[in-house]
Amino acid sequence: MTTPFTTTVLGLPRIGPDRELKRALERYWAGRIDADDLAAEGAALRERQLLELRAAGLDSVPVGTFSLYDHVLDTSVMVGALPSRFEGTLDSLDGYFAAARGTEDLAPLEMTKWFDTNYHYLVPEIGADTSFSLHPEKLLAELDQALGLDLPARPVVLGPVTFLKLAKSTERSRMPLSWIEQLLPVYVDLLGRLADRGVGWVQLDEPTLVTDLAPNELEVVRAAYTALSAAQHRPAILVASYFGDLGPALPVIAATGVEGLAIDLVAGALPDDGILAGKHVVAGVVDGRNVWRTDLGRAVELLDRVEHLASSVAVSTSCSLLHVPYTLAGEDALDAELCSWLAFGAEKVAEVALLDRARQDGSNAAAEFASAAAAVTARRADPRLHRDEVRERLASLTEADRRRSHADVRRGRQDELLGLPPLPTTTIGSYPQTPQIRRARVDTRLGRIDRAEYVRRMRREIESVIRLQEQLGLDVLVHGEPERNDMVQYFAEQLDGFATTSNGWVQSYGSRCVRPPILFGDVARPAPMTVEWIGYAQSLTDHPVKGMLTGPVTILAWSFVRDDQPLAETADQVALAIRDETVDLEAAGVRIVQVDEPALRELLPLRAADRPDYLRWAVEAFRLATSGVQDDTQVHTHLCYSEFGDVIEAIAGLDADVTSVEAARSRMEVLDDLNEAGFDLGIGPGVYDIHSPRVPSVEEIAGSLRAALASVGSRRLWVNPDCGLKTRGTAEVTASLRNLVEAARRVRGEL
Ligand code: GLN
Ligand code: ZN
Repeated sequence: MTTPFTTTVLGLPRIGPDRELKRALERYWAGRIDADDLAAEGAALRERQLLELRAAGLDSVPVGTFSLYDHVLDTSVMVGALPSRFEGTLDSLDGYFAAARGTEDLAPLEMTKWFDTNYHYLVPEIGADTSFSLHPEKLLAELDQALGLDLPARPVVLGPVTFLKLAKSTERSRMPLSWIEQLLPVYVDLLGRLADRGVGWVQLDEPTLVTDLAPNELEVVRAAYTALSAAQHRPAILVASYFGDLGPALPVIAATGVEGLAIDLVAGALPDDGILAGKHVVAGVVDGRNVWRTDLGRAVELLDRVEHLASSVAVSTSCSLLHVPYTLAGEDALDAELCSWLAFGAEKVAEVALLDRARQDGSNAAAEFASAAAAVTARRADPRLHRDEVRERLASLTEADRRRSHADVRRGRQDELLGLPPLPTTTIGSYPQTPQIRRARVDTRLGRIDRAEYVRRMRREIESVIRLQEQLGLDVLVHGEPERNDMVQYFAEQLDGFATTSNGWVQSYGSRCVRPPILFGDVARPAPMTVEWIGYAQSLTDHPVKGMLTGPVTILAWSFVRDDQPLAETADQVALAIRDETVDLEAAGVRIVQVDEPALRELLPLRAADRPDYLRWAVEAFRLATSGVQDDTQVHTHLCYSEFGDVIEAIAGLDADVTSVEAARSRMEVLDDLNEAGFDLGIGPGVYDIHSPRVPSVEEIAGSLRAALASVGSRRLWVNPDCGLKTRGTAEVTASLRNLVEAARRVRGEL
């Protein structure tokens, strides 16, 4: 067998320490640089990373996890599986970006979330016209670059089972996995090409193995890896799993001839005796998904235990470093104490290397171990993590704090107070982020304007959004969210217990990056966060203005969250802060509050067995956040970005007076699902897709409304777009909403 390695990480971030790749991509799309310039930027970023890994002392480095857009799209290209509408474009960069982003006449591949992360991949489309063939040029170029630098390169490829499991079949009667036999020869070819280059190990990523697989799917896993490991000419195969336990897939994969297994020991548990015998195990003891410094003592203990189970062990991260920021270096605005608790990408690489040195000889790393242990102890003892007033308040909560009066009672009071017509029209919260809004934010950051001037400019924006909505004839208005850079960061910046980074960017999809806040301590709200804006908006009009807040689950999902207590407890702390805000809004004369939970589905555990517990605490946290107001106050929520099938009952459990959901792209099916779950409250299925600049016609919207009426009846139906409007332009928003109001009027007339 090829010599096992000792120290590695499972994958690397792509966007560069200063989002160089993002900027290069945007310049390329704008026609300001050409394909060669873009390729050169990518090569430079990779070289820099590879040299950093070598300097850190890794003896196996992942190659091929770089991507100009997405690694699942890269895999579709590599196995020749782009749908035929992209025919002839396979070898050109513009064809690649057409599949990623679409063109005037070509619809892009669908995009969806990568397991339970906030990274989005492009869904492979497999159908009758798919005929797989190997196009390994990208991978081989990256491999050659690493070999040219004399690095111990380990190509990383998305495995065939996960690739197909993530794909969608365009043939109704055929599951994507049924294409495995056609796909495997391409992988066998690839293994041969890698062996030709002298590659010792190849990593095949199979995160799908940590999800629930049916017996016939496990059989596919067994057959696929039996076939791949039977290939004559190939490197040693490392099957990498992450984001959880292998569970029943472990004995299946371990019984095949693959030489190595990467297992996630942060999200999953140590396997039983015997099963790993004879394998090279890559032990994920450094958390690749969160930002906390590793408890090195505990990691060494784990490594010792794995040593007894396997033939050899390498130290590694639990998953790719795609999900954490590049480096802590330069985060000078973070307080030094908090900083000493953290490890971003570069620091995690150093931890992996350090753990390996300590494994060889404990005295090698004594000083570093002592300092890491001191940081872990200091973090545990920090007063910001244990605020008595927060703990006492949580401890004294009762069932009643999470329940409102019966929905019918609330409906009666709200109908009387709000006096809305049937089929009330509204929007989801944000209006276009105009150049003026962006300029005000930049001017503030650079100190060019003071707070008073900033407030003046925001008020101007709010006033213009209110007047626009009045002119359009919308029933329930919003203030437009001009003051929000991001719906989570805005709150994180104002709550105790959160910190925000200056450069902690993580790729969300393509060139899109987010900067998740760090939720490190007990959460408290020192002052109202939104009342000055929403109260101002309400003061300008007689129409009800809906106050917009972000819900506890979404705040958790889009932050790096403390790992020293159950998520449920952290969620309740955030919920209390949001609850206090709803009560303050109510006191300021706001009669409707909306608490958005677009990430409700995203945090759903990968295994069905873990879901009920999650859904229970997620729903309870939402109810805690929204049950502080009077019956008169109407509570709305908004959900999007997902198929709702798995969370339908939870949606009903939220008990929001009105729920708006993304529905325009998935037709109105969600309504029937909700009915079946016994949902009987207000519902606003999005009547047009805001993800495209297209202006929907009155007749089209009216058609959607009539379809919705067939499922829910006029008493409960609301009329709204399917998400916020912040990424759209003012002209198209105005035209679309004018049609939306007209469509509602027309359909009301038919009631
Ligand atoms: N209120 C938010 C907005 O309109 C909701 C965004 C979202 O659902 N992601 O922008
Ligand atoms: Zn939305």
